[in-house]
Amino acid sequence: MPHHEEIAGKRVVSCTEIGILGDCDFRAIGDSDDEVFMKLVNHLKEKHDTVIPPGSHLDSIIRRFIHVIGTV
Ligand SMILES: [Zn+2]
Repeated sequence: MPHHEEIAGKRVVSCTEIGILGDCDFRAIGDSDDEVFMKLVNHLKEKHDTVIPPGSHLDSIIRRFIHVIGTV
């Protein structure tokens, strides 16, 4: 195993990418869209006081922004 976390091929979405205003630099990183999505939803709830209901329109919008690290 490498000493540092291998991020190539991981999936990611950031607060900036989904349009959260301000200077938040949080990035949710994971192996699957579901993992990334859950990390971001938890962060939005804790840091931005924003709840994303499962299956909601916001839910589907956020999932569309999840992408492979290193790609747009
Ligand atoms: Zn944030």
